[in-house]
Amino acid sequence: MRKFPLIDSVGNPLLTCLFIVLLLLQWRFPLRRQHFKVLHRLVRNFVLSIPGFVIVRLAMLPIPIAIAIWARQQRVGLLNLIDLRTWAVVIATFLLMDYAYWWWHRAMHVVPFFWRFHNVHHTDLDLDVSTAARFHFGEMILSTAFLSLAVVLFGIGPIMLVVFFVSFEAATLFHHSNWRLPIRVERILNLILVTPRMHGIHHSIVQRETNSNWGTMFCWWDRLHQTLRRDVPQDAITVGVAAYREENELTLGKLFALPFIGQREWRLPSGEIPERETRPAEKLAE
Ligand SMILES: [Zn+2]
Repeated sequence: MRKFPLIDSVGNPLLTCLFIVLLLLQWRFPLRRQHFKVLHRLVRNFVLSIPGFVIVRLAMLPIPIAIAIWARQQRVGLLNLIDLRTWAVVIATFLLMDYAYWWWHRAMHVVPFFWRFHNVHHTDLDLDVSTAARFHFGEMILSTAFLSLAVVLFGIGPIMLVVFFVSFEAATLFHHSNWRLPIRVERILNLILVTPRMHGIHHSIVQRETNSNWGTMFCWWDRLHQTLRRDVPQDAITVGVAAYREENELTLGKLFALPFIGQREWRLPSGEIPERETRPAEKLAE
């Protein structure tokens, strides 16, 4: 395995520390009431994510890094064609890549083939920092192709790619966490960032709410596309996918197999379609 000190000695230890800190914070200051056994979910999400971790380390980073090095040498891609100062390259990388990922996340929801894989992430019946790792390995393979394409298109340099990737993963851990931030603090953060309450709405069993708040780092893209929803209080959210609510249908084996079998319509086992009225809201609801 090729060594990447910036990932192995800096990025991974940082993300592990952040994971532990968020785990403690969400345990001490919980945001949403959890309905299922925490340890059980942690173990399930961890085991489910193991093939994903392997893919990230062996393909999802090495392949785009190799492409980034090649693109730099050949002067291919937007940022390799224009001369910018370092600070401008940093800003451009974060904006371009986070916006590209907004489209990618949107595609994960609206393209039926992609949804088969992303569905596994959304079937978690509670939402916390461990959900941030719960991705089917098929989604990680698809993401590797997407990231490689974005890197060559935008001409992202290898170091900037790793810096962005670690920041992006940190943002993913943060907004999935079940940490109750003081609402005033979260509303200020939510002027810029995707926060736990904002992303909580994205994990609702109401389909229109799941089809909103697609951002990962910055909340601006959802505002731009009018897919930003802030009006749902956290205690009104039921987390999960309407058609997949039975715990015994969400065992590890069944989750690994889920993308490869017929997908159910978005309705509760009772046949009912969960709905809720939308009210435009400038401020994030409690
Ligand atoms: Zn999603």
